[in-house]
Amino acid sequence: MEKILLLAATEPDGSLGKPAFEALAAAKTFADGIPGSTLTVGLIGASAQNGADALASCGAVKFLAVTGDAFKDGVYANDTAAAEALVKASGATLVLAPATSRINRFISGAAARLGGCVDTHATEVAVKDASPVVTRWYYRQRMTASVKRPARPWFITVDPGSLAPWSGAAGKAAIEAVTAPTPSKSKVTGVKSPSSGAQTIKPEAALLFVAGAGWCKKQADGATHVPEAEKAILSFLEKAQASLGGSKSLVDQSGDGTATLTFMTHLNQVGQTGATPRHPKGLSTCCHGEEPHVVGWRFVNERRAINLNPSCGWAQGKADVLYVADAFALVSKVNELL
Ligand SMILES: Cc1cc2nc3c(=O)[nH]c(=O)nc-3n(C[C@H](O)[C@H](O)[C@H](O)COP(=O)(O)OP(=O)(O)OC[C@H]3O[C@@H](n4cnc5c(N)ncnc54)[C@H](O)[C@@H]3O)c2cc1C
Repeated sequence: MEKILLLAATEPDGSLGKPAFEALAAAKTFADGIPGSTLTVGLIGASAQNGADALASCGAVKFLAVTGDAFKDGVYANDTAAAEALVKASGATLVLAPATSRINRFISGAAARLGGCVDTHATEVAVKDASPVVTRWYYRQRMTASVKRPARPWFITVDPGSLAPWSGAAGKAAIEAVTAPTPSKSKVTGVKSPSSGAQTIKPEAALLFVAGAGWCKKQADGATHVPEAEKAILSFLEKAQASLGGSKSLVDQSGDGTATLTFMTHLNQVGQTGATPRHPKGLSTCCHGEEPHVVGWRFVNERRAINLNPSCGWAQGKADVLYVADAFALVSKVNELL
């Protein structure tokens, strides 16, 4: 028997983002599969009613919340104290939370305070022989392992995009207020972030557009065409609302002082030493498709590539479709059509 807690932080209006619903799906897998288990929802934020109402029909025996201005912005010391109070109030043995940047900051601190253990970046959960099992990837997404642990409380964060979010009817949830200390002296005075148009990394985008070093190489006329490459890529990103990835060769060029795409940084790098984004579809352009790059495409379901070379790596079983074509011409034409 386990006491399961869904732990999530609310948005400023008290509602919950999609990752919280995915973590709830994981919590439900345990609650429904482990005999005699109970599910409690524990929320942290300025307010929590909207979020709790959205989960009203999830089968939770209790809705707990630590609320107030001190919990609006995600300050480490306050969030850790709130998580500790919610785990104690619920008597939780399993704590499921979304792996958002806010939760990632404090989850290990909360686990340490409560003498528990923590596994982050879970991509799957299951019940085996009435015990919880958590699956996650290791060694840059090359190996996967399923983990069982006797230690409790066991904190588990679920990577956004891994599970189908829970869905159910909204209603009116009766929240029990839990109090927690607010030891932090930090004050958030504002938030600075790029507008979503200027942001090239969009984890929720349906399409990942990857640019490779070919965009900055000499083309058939013997010259480079970097400004044209920038225009074609930015126009595509805007029209398709795609997220931008890059190959290592391309992102490294900025550090080498070579003419390169001004909006490309190391944060865009996909691959063994880069990111492993999750998008339903991917389009690779001017990128050779070598293994250290393609390993970063592990979670991209449908893959297409544009390359002049019919023997490039993508042709070796790594893409579903390879367009043997000039990416400058092809992407410009697609932009026109879009
Ligand atoms: C330990 C290790 C870790 C690594 N980690 C990573 C990593 O995390 N991510 C990563 O990306 N790489 C990584 N690499 C490097 C990787 O092996 C490749 O060197 C890199 O991915 C090559 O980048 P690229 O395909 O963009 O460039 P290139 O190999 O130079 O390929 C450019 C491609 O563009 C094509 N092209 C040129 N012009 C056009 C055009 N007009 N239209 C269409 N196609 C065109 C060419 O045919 C060519 O295939 C790693 C390597 C090592 C050893």
